Formats: sequence, C-alpha cells, structure tokens
Amino acid sequence: MKKNRNILKHKWSLLLALMVMVTMTAAGTLPAFGLETWGVTLDPTWQYAGNSKIHTGTAVVYYTDVTPKKGLTVCINAGHGTKGGAAVKTLCHPDGSPKVTGGSTAAGATTATAIAYGTTMLDGTPEATVTLKAAIATKNVLLARGYDVLMIRESSDVQLDNIARTVIANNIADCHISIHYDSTTSDNGAFYCSVPNVASYRAMEPVASHWKDHNYLGDCLIAGLQSSGVKIRSSSTVPTDLTQTSYSTIPSVDLEVGDRASDYSDASLNKIAQGIANGLDSFSKAFLDVPSGAYYYEPVQWAVQRKITGGFSAIRFGPDGACNRAQMVTFLWRAAGSPTATVSANPFTDVASNAYYYQAVLWAVQKGITTGTSDTTFSPDDIVDRGQVATFLWRAAGSEAVIGTPNPFTDVTPEDYFNQAVLWAVSKKITQGTSETTFSPADPCTRAQAVTFLYRSR
Ligand SMILES: [Zn+2]
Repeated sequence: MKKNRNILKHKWSLLLALMVMVTMTAAGTLPAFGLETWGVTLDPTWQYAGNSKIHTGTAVVYYTDVTPKKGLTVCINAGHGTKGGAAVKTLCHPDGSPKVTGGSTAAGATTATAIAYGTTMLDGTPEATVTLKAAIATKNVLLARGYDVLMIRESSDVQLDNIARTVIANNIADCHISIHYDSTTSDNGAFYCSVPNVASYRAMEPVASHWKDHNYLGDCLIAGLQSSGVKIRSSSTVPTDLTQTSYSTIPSVDLEVGDRASDYSDASLNKIAQGIANGLDSFSKAFLDVPSGAYYYEPVQWAVQRKITGGFSAIRFGPDGACNRAQMVTFLWRAAGSPTATVSANPFTDVASNAYYYQAVLWAVQKGITTGTSDTTFSPDDIVDRGQVATFLWRAAGSEAVIGTPNPFTDVTPEDYFNQAVLWAVSKKITQGTSETTFSPADPCTRAQAVTFLYRSR
C-alpha cells in the first residue's frame, strides 16, 4: 500500500462516520459490506491532478479477506463510462508536448478527449457496459487470490476522466490495468498498448522512469490470458501514446481483451479474469527495482527469506530509500533471530512500548550496540549514516579490536568514533567504501546498503 494511505485513511474515517449515519437513517435498505472497503477521491495536491478536468467521482478500494495476502493493490479500471467526458479536452502529456502516435486522437495533437465514449459491441451493447462486467469478474478473482483491488468504476457512470483515474491509481495502487475492447470486428484477440519506441516519448517523465515496467506488466498479462485460454492477437502489442501511459508512475497497461466481435458471456469474462490474475501472479513474483545484476540482489533475497525486511510492496523493495535508526536496529535484531531482551527498563522517552522496534531497541541497548542519541532519546526516525551502520554492525559482532588492517580511506581518521568499526568492516570485506579512497561515513545509508552490510557480516 502506498504512503498516502494514512492520510486518506483519515478521509475514510470521516466517510465511514457518514455512512454509519446513512445506515442508521435507512436501516435495512443498504446491503451489508462483506469486505472492508474504502472510498477514494482525487486529492488535488497529487502530482498531475491539476491536469484533470472531470474528478468528482469516487473510486473504491476492496481489501481481500484471503490469506496469505499478496501485498499488492491492483487498480482495475473499466474503460470508459464517464458521462460528458467526450466533450472535454485534457493535455495528452503532463508537459504539454504533442502525441507521438495516433489513436482516437491523431499524432501531433496536444489535447485529447478527457475520456472517450468507447466503441459498441456488434450487438449494439456499449463497450463501457462490457468492460464493467469484465472488471467486476476480475475484481472477484483477484480478491479470492489475495490481491487488494482499486475499482475505478462500479456503475455505468463515474465522473473521473482518464487523468483522474490514472492519478488515483498512481497514489493508491501498485499497478494499473484498464480493460477495453478494440474497435475491430474480426475477433482478432487480446493485445496491450505498449509504450511507443519513440526517443522523445521514452525520455519524457514519468514515461522515462516507468516504460519498461509498463511493457513488462503487459507481457505478463498477455501470457496470463494465453494460459487461461483467451485468444491472443497475432501481434500482442500495439505501440500507442495514451493519456494513461503518459501520466502513470506505477506499472500501467491498457489491455484490449478482445474486440467488437468478441463473445462476452460470463464464461468468456471468467477466462479473462483468470488470465489477468495469472498474469499478475507472475508479474508480482519479484521486486522490479532489484535487478538480478545489482550488487544488492543476493542480500535482498536473503533478507526477505529470513524475514529481516520486506519490500514496500510485492514489487517494490525501495533500494534507494534511506534507512532510519529504528529500521536499522530492527534489521540487526531480526538477523540475530529476534531475541527477547532480558532487560525491561526502557531508558528512552521516544521509544513507545507498542512501537514495532521496541524489543529491538531494548536488545540493542542490552548488547551495547547503541546507547541512544542521548541518555533519554533514541531518535528512531533519524536517518542512519554509513558510519553509524558500520558501528552498529561492529558492536553487534562483539567490538573486536582491529590491528594491522591498513586504512584505505582518507575520510576515516583515528579520531572518529567509527574508525575501528570501519577498519573491522574492511577487514571482514563487509565494505569496499564508496570509492577506493573514501568511505563517506556521513552519507545516508540506503536500504540496499543496509541489507548488503548485514548480509556480508552474517
Ligand atoms: Zn476502449
């Protein structure tokens, strides 16, 4: 779940209070909730929210009640279904640059319909009716498999344009799948709109930082659909510059699950739902931000297997995020097997007995790994620097004196409190420094560095 959940949870509690009032006045007329849900509206402070023109609607998050949970919130966006959306124009790209491919709006345009009406199936049924059915079928399968689901639309009309839908997904979900039927009439099969291989487009943010993830998600979904028996188009990708793609900061795909001639019986929609779920199962197997060639690849696998740390979600480890003192001490404590401290006196006023790191801090004090930042403070939220982390590790290993190891670093001197710790880390090959001659003791220690140090000192 994303960082904004806590802020929004507050809004939800207000909404919940309102709903309780409604339920009380209309007792017996509202269906009981089977699952915990949470209504989400567009927060105008979110990145790109200002580019949306239609955003009074509410999307809904459903929390799975199945265990084990996948740790992933999937946005299911039933394509189209916004009354009046075709009469409003929004910027194709956040920076106002022109579209690089055609589509429902031609290449070169800088604005496009805020949200199109969509096509109609050959029997005259609006595409929006069928995408909604497919979305609901998909939601049910995903919840049953342990995913949380953000439903953009649950009726024939939600007042959220493509930008609002995308920005809500960016802030609430871990990945975004919009469901569509293409305007061809030959039952050509499913495909996804891949990111066009146009240098200027792939260089534009947020596309530049995310286009590989978009295409990877699309490839996984196509393989998943294939595995459940959905017909796949002869070419399963159509490079398209879409508003959704241009504003997405999470893995995001426009999935065309069929076309106007496709059968959309319950049986066919169930195949699509199972296929999307199969695709997500393979997509969420590994952290996207921990590539197999990274120096921290093995340390992260080790740390996750040992439950020393998890990721921010099933697909994000956050290797570049800074580690704070509470997290670092907790990592050390878990690596030591989460021992129960035999002291119970807590010297720190800023370490609450219900904090997740409470036992870890007591243990670290007892072991002499930390003395806090003062007699009465531990400063759990302070970012740890590399000098502090080396010192924690060295003390946890018994504060061994180091003799005869030459000091390769010009920024580590005998006067520094971390001098012995860094030399110990060099002698144990835990660190090679940030260059041949620098250790950068005052640099923040990233999550990737923290687990790597731990892994090498195990
Ligand atoms: Zn469509």
